[in-house]
Amino acid sequence: MKKEDRILGGLFGVACGDALGGTLEFLSKKEGKEEYGYLKEIIGGGVWNLKPGEVTDDTMMTIAVAEGILENPKDPLKCIGKNFISWYDTDPKDVGNTVKLAMEGYKKYNSWKKAASYAHKQLNQHSAGNGTLMRCIPAALYYDDLKKVIKISKEQSMLTHYDEKAAEACELYNTIIYRYLNGEEKLKVIEEETLKYQDYEDIMSTKKIELTPSGYVVDTLQCALWCFINTSNSEDAICEAVNIYGDPDTIGAIAGGLAGVYYGIDNIPKRWREKILVKDKLIEIGRKIEEKVLIRKNSI
Ligand SMILES: [Mg+2]
Repeated sequence: MKKEDRILGGLFGVACGDALGGTLEFLSKKEGKEEYGYLKEIIGGGVWNLKPGEVTDDTMMTIAVAEGILENPKDPLKCIGKNFISWYDTDPKDVGNTVKLAMEGYKKYNSWKKAASYAHKQLNQHSAGNGTLMRCIPAALYYDDLKKVIKISKEQSMLTHYDEKAAEACELYNTIIYRYLNGEEKLKVIEEETLKYQDYEDIMSTKKIELTPSGYVVDTLQCALWCFINTSNSEDAICEAVNIYGDPDTIGAIAGGLAGVYYGIDNIPKRWREKILVKDKLIEIGRKIEEKVLIRKNSI
């Protein structure tokens, strides 16, 4: 499979998981099942009253990270931060608690370091939400050096989330994404990488009933990995992820990123892709990242 197909797969995987799961956000499993059954179609609605195909913070912050990296690949943090603020100032429907506090902190102190520590204090030292994991995939899609992927993945996390659990999850997730982008085998990569982290080392043998879906980054990544491991295509991985509840749009987005990169863009249902309202923006970003990949390939 061409790298370009994996790059677009990753971006659309995030968006489709986000748009599908947005319908179920903040519903209990019981409420959601009664109203939607096992949700498989992007229909919008839910607490945000989404349009069909409308995405939430997961995809919009992913776009912010991608555009920051494209603007200044060597040192993208300033641009990423600037994009976060521009997005936040549009008064988006769905903003996570930690991100919201960090944005307010930044406006107060004009420093991301102070912003993240302000949010951490306001949350009584609980800033290990999944808000940085959901947006980090562009770092793995863009950089060709794993060390740089990890550095930027963690640094973009620390802009808003002081807790190292959030940065650690970004590191693990994007290392897996990076290896898939380079054509490596599904389970071998997960086995090797999860063994390095106490929170994730048992994921291959975890049963569905043992999962605890929530907005805590460790729960989110465990759930997304489980849904990806235990299915064999993008549609099933994303459907399993959003129908697990807890934090359905974000668990869907993370599982969608894994599945999208591994199986490629063509494996994501066309009926979903066509609905995504920001699809042109995602294609534009995908093309810009691909250009870099092609330039690098030609210069070798
Ligand atoms: Mg969201």
